[in-house]
Amino acid sequence: MPDKACRLCRRIVKGNICPACKTSDLSKSWKGILVVVNPESDIAKEAGITAPGKYAIRVK
Ligand SMILES: [Zn+2]
Repeated sequence: MPDKACRLCRRIVKGNICPACKTSDLSKSWKGILVVVNPESDIAKEAGITAPGKYAIRVK
């Protein structure tokens, strides 16, 4: 089964619940992966990401 992306935080989730948002509002329609190692970086700040992890760039 393909990974899904959380519609709220765009985190790429394995399973049916986002561990950050505790929501099952996940999408199979997403594009691009952004790997955030340092949430203090400009790229993470621009994307509004506050925790390290793998994120989808676009979620439908
Ligand atoms: Zn989430």
